[in-house]
Amino acid sequence: MNIILDFDSTLIQAESLDILAAICNRSEAIQEEIKHIANLGMVGEISIQESLSQRIKLINASTSDLNELIVKLISFISPSIEALTDFKSIFPKNCYLVSGGFLEYIMPVCKRIGFLESNIFANQFVLNDDNIIDFNRNLPIAQNMGKVKVLNELKLSRPIYMIGDGYTDLETKLQGSVDVFIAYTETVYRNAIVNKADEVCSDFYEIVKLIKDND
Ligand SMILES: [Mg+2]
Repeated sequence: MNIILDFDSTLIQAESLDILAAICNRSEAIQEEIKHIANLGMVGEISIQESLSQRIKLINASTSDLNELIVKLISFISPSIEALTDFKSIFPKNCYLVSGGFLEYIMPVCKRIGFLESNIFANQFVLNDDNIIDFNRNLPIAQNMGKVKVLNELKLSRPIYMIGDGYTDLETKLQGSVDVFIAYTETVYRNAIVNKADEVCSDFYEIVKLIKDND
């Protein structure tokens, strides 16, 4: 059995790029625009590349902003994550983190929780000096159906559980790359996602119970 987790609004109770925009002191109007673009991507109305590219340009961050972001994100880790990290027959070896967010802040947060570095897959920023200007479009996760591509390349043993709040998480089930899609609603409840989910959970205690009951 393997468990795949999303990062933003799943493992952490926030959207990282929204927090980065606030750290960079972007105006209320720009912060609202960034949230709007993120939502369009999450419900599948624009491509994930378009969503990332537009948000990175609006945020206009530098690498020095990332340390503050990492500290903030650690404070947003879902408190119920202990249910998963205490599930010793699957954590950390059989738990993967697959995110359309960025390795530069996801890696330190996930390693602190106890995830294996080799089980973490995310996008990477492109820099110009210290400015974050774009993302690496060559990685599988950066493509259309990026999470599907990452999972198909991993060839993990079944059953595979996918836990997330957004369309790219649901898509892994729609494409047959996972067996069970659990809509995670602790931070945000998206009707379009919940309606198509196999299961709905609002914390990691519920998830661990569900997986143990199915086992
Ligand atoms: Mg998410």
